[in-house]
Amino acid sequence: MAFDVDLFVIGGGSGGVRAARMAAATGAKVALAEDSRMGGTCVIRGCVPKKLMVFASSFRELPGEARAYGWDIPDGSFDWQAFRGKLHAELDRLEGVYRRLLDGSGVAIHDARARLSDAHTVELSNGTRVTAKHILVATGGRPERPDLPNAQLGLVSDDIFLMDKLPRSVLIIGGGFIACEMACILNGLGVKVTQFYRGAQILRGFDDEARGLVAEAMKESGIDLHLGTNIVEMAEAAAMGEQDSDMGADVGFSADLLPHSGKKGCPVWVKSTNGHEAVFDSVLFATGRAPNSRDLGLEDIGVKIGRRGEIVVDDYSQTAVPSVYAIGDVTNRVNLTPVAIREGMAFSRTVFEGDPTPVDHTLIPSAVFTQPELGTIGLTEEEARAQEPIEVYCTSFRPMRSAFAGSTARVMMKIVVSQESRKVLGVHIVAPEAGEMIQLAAIAVKMGATKEDFDRTVAVHPTMAEELVTMRAPVRRS
Ligand code: NDP
Repeated sequence: MAFDVDLFVIGGGSGGVRAARMAAATGAKVALAEDSRMGGTCVIRGCVPKKLMVFASSFRELPGEARAYGWDIPDGSFDWQAFRGKLHAELDRLEGVYRRLLDGSGVAIHDARARLSDAHTVELSNGTRVTAKHILVATGGRPERPDLPNAQLGLVSDDIFLMDKLPRSVLIIGGGFIACEMACILNGLGVKVTQFYRGAQILRGFDDEARGLVAEAMKESGIDLHLGTNIVEMAEAAAMGEQDSDMGADVGFSADLLPHSGKKGCPVWVKSTNGHEAVFDSVLFATGRAPNSRDLGLEDIGVKIGRRGEIVVDDYSQTAVPSVYAIGDVTNRVNLTPVAIREGMAFSRTVFEGDPTPVDHTLIPSAVFTQPELGTIGLTEEEARAQEPIEVYCTSFRPMRSAFAGSTARVMMKIVVSQESRKVLGVHIVAPEAGEMIQLAAIAVKMGATKEDFDRTVAVHPTMAEELVTMRAPVRRS
């Protein structure tokens, strides 16, 4: 049977675009549909704008630090409108780059929503039907609000980049990547930040000591972090007669950026699990993300969907329907951009280069862009201890740069080592630029380096990272 294309990709995010380009490079005829902006979550409403906001927020500390080093610099103020304009210009530029990359690879772009009508046919919202030998679903995920009356009054991470003005106060719900990163960013930009996390410590799943240090630093920087606390009720503050001139200013959204924002972004009255009531300019739900698997016609054609809405795939990203594959956040494996890209590349190798390539989901480094950052690779101390006898090398100290300026901020470097194989099972770094450091440490860990390999490496002095190769005695053996 002749198909219109060899591959139809649904979703123009990092994973989908990479898979489309790689497949096209093999000579395959490829089409891609995207119903929003090209670039997906990472480029348009995730990693990229978030990191630019991390940079923006980090300047608050600089004048004080510079003064301690002898500079005559006054404190400045932050202009959200000026920053937002530049931010969106940059996102437009990047979106253009993604489009040009696809065009240049010969991929046909459809700016439309796609739906599968059978195992080989895609129907587009503009009425076009395209038949494809293979279909790749790379539709990503979306932020989820908790099931709470009036939850629609709260913002989600997508909204943060679109606000007309910064709220004066924000309540952030959650203790994961997005909650903690946004708490640090908004705090750095001068917003009064309160954060509720329902568990005993933020950043569940990360190394306990690392989590503790990040939480301490966040509190130290002025974030009002409440652990073991959740939101139980919320309502529009004006409707509760709670709006006052100090706490109630609508953050608003530009109609062109977010046409259907409704009441979202208005001051909100909140009641917490401890009975406390307060009004915040905004509430931000950072309570997790869900796979975008709905309304794609997947179940109708026999694709299996899991309990959380994820598309169930095998090691080669193939679904229960042989012609349909899925990669990235919609499969809810490891929801990180570089992982989606690898899944896209492995898919293309498997299907278009005759080289069956499973995706290696082991030892994936990651970083949480809090201030300070948390960089991690491998097992946490707790996971490693449950697995085998270990040694833990750990140091916490005041880094030279900020200590000189009088700061009490501390950094932490931890190496978890197998007693038997001597292999480094995990590295955890809490420090400025920990994301940069962990990338390099991850190469060694992925290669199977032992603690002695770390020890044989000469230190780069004076740096923070040199501690990774100079810790001689374990702080614990267990
Ligand atoms: P996470 O799953 O990391 O965190 C969700 C948080 O919300 C958890 O603290 C969770 O609590 C809490 N939560 C969930 N439901 C409720 C509820 N009903 N009421 C109160 N709290 C609730 O999701 P994120 O949205 O922060 O991030 C999604 C994913 O995106 C990450 O896992 C990561 O893969 C990726 N990401 C990566 C980044 C990076 O690499 N730097 C940055 C941002 C996102 P509990 O712990 O108790 O379940």
